Amino acid sequence: MPLLLRILKLLTLSAAFLMAGAQQLGLTFDDGLNPDTEPHAPRWSAQILAGLRQAELTAMAFPSLARTGEGQGLALIRQWAEAGHAIGNHTASHRSLSLPSITLAGFIADVDRTDAVFGSYPNRVPLLRFPYLKEGNSVERRDGMRAWMQAHGYRAAPVSIDASDGYYDQVYAAHIAKGDTDRASRVKRAYIQHLLDRASYYEALAVTTLGRSPAHVLRLHTNQINADALGEIVAAFRARDWTLVNPCIAFDDPLYARQPETLPAGETIVWALARQAGHAGLRYPAEDSTDEAPVLCAQGLLP
Ligand SMILES: [Zn+2]
Repeated sequence: MPLLLRILKLLTLSAAFLMAGAQQLGLTFDDGLNPDTEPHAPRWSAQILAGLRQAELTAMAFPSLARTGEGQGLALIRQWAEAGHAIGNHTASHRSLSLPSITLAGFIADVDRTDAVFGSYPNRVPLLRFPYLKEGNSVERRDGMRAWMQAHGYRAAPVSIDASDGYYDQVYAAHIAKGDTDRASRVKRAYIQHLLDRASYYEALAVTTLGRSPAHVLRLHTNQINADALGEIVAAFRARDWTLVNPCIAFDDPLYARQPETLPAGETIVWALARQAGHAGLRYPAEDSTDEAPVLCAQGLLP
C-alpha cells in the first residue's frame, strides 16, 4: 500500500477510535422536592448539588410546582439556580399532555404559571420538559404545542436516554425505610448498572437511526437514590469513557431540534425517531418497570 494511503487509513482509524470514546452526556433533573411534605428533601437536594460540585458539573433542573410546592421547595430550586445550574420548565400541575382531562389551552396555562414563578430565577432557560415525556396523543395537541413554543421563544427539551430511576428509587427507599442497608446498597449498584445499560442501548439505537453518536441528555429525578448515588453514577460513566458536559451544550446537538411525527408523541427523541423509521422491537412506554422488576426479583432485591 502506498505510504500516503497507509497514513490516510491510520488517520481514519484514529478518528474512529476517538469518536468511539467520545460519547457526551448532559445530566438533567426533573421535578424538584417539597420540604413541606418530605422532611428529607433539603438533605437530598443538598447532596445532589454537592455531588455535582465535586464532579465539577453543571446540570439542568426542570421543576414542576406540583412537585416543589409553593413554599420551601422554591428555595431549593433557587439554590440550584444560584449554584449555576440551568432552570427549565416542567409545567405547574405535572399533567401529561396525553390526558383526556387536559386541553391544549390548559397545558399552555400550566407552562405560563411555572414561568411566572421561575422566570426571574438566575440561569432560567426557555426549555420545556414535558411531564412523563408525553408530547400529546393527537396532531392538534402535538403540533399545537410546537407552534406555541416557536411563537414564544421556547424549545422542547427532550432526552435521548431515559431510565426507570423512579422505580429504582421506590425499591431503594423501601429497603432504607426498613433499615436494610445491605439490600439498599445492592439495589443502588443494580441501578447504576441499569443506567449504564440504558445509555448503551440508546447510544446503539441512535447510531442505527441517525448514523452517528449524538450528544446525549439523560433524564434523572431529584430523588433519594440519585442523592445517594450521584458521585458513583458520574464515576461509572467516566470509567466507560463518557464525557460529561453541560446540558446547554448537549442541547445544541441538532438531534434536539428534530420533531418526530409519531403519535402518541414523546418518549426519548431517539426512541421516537427510531419508531418513525420503522425500527422493530420498541416497547411502549419506552421505560417502565416491566423489564426491571424481574431483574431485581431474580437477585432477591424486591422488598
Ligand atoms: Zn416529572
